Amino acid sequence: MGELRDLYQEVILDHSKRPRNFGDLAGANRRAEGYNPLCGDRETVYVRLEDDVLKDVGFRGAGCAISTASASMMTESLKGRTRAEAEALFERFHDLITGRDGESKTERPDLGKLAVFSGVREFPIRVKCATLPWHTLKAALAGEEKTVSTELTEGPKAESGGAA
Ligand code: ZN
Repeated sequence: MGELRDLYQEVILDHSKRPRNFGDLAGANRRAEGYNPLCGDRETVYVRLEDDVLKDVGFRGAGCAISTASASMMTESLKGRTRAEAEALFERFHDLITGRDGESKTERPDLGKLAVFSGVREFPIRVKCATLPWHTLKAALAGEEKTVSTELTEGPKAESGGAA
């Protein structure tokens, strides 16, 4: 497990130092700003949405290594996905880093490289850093112009009664 953890940290460091899809996004038609007051992370997420498909995703902003790497990897993971797929991926990602992964038996999207963030669950304060770009993306897709704050979105998750 130690070697795997080192590998995960390397991937996160790499993305934080050389974020992908960073900068203004040509042709973006969705945009939202996110702010995590606990850490000071600020990110703007851009999406070019066509026929409910995220044709292109980008971001800019300033934040800690976790929030930057999370945004970078999110943009890579989402290109070409539908809005529904993006939301399902966020749900899975959120479950992973809050330690809820594996509770659901339903079919779930493969996280792929995003699995490197599993270690974040051991640092609850970092969960907000990792989810900031995702909350911001969600606001962008919803067409909300206001700035989203993790202090408003990261409340206790309502349990949806899935038990049969
Ligand atoms: Zn942060």
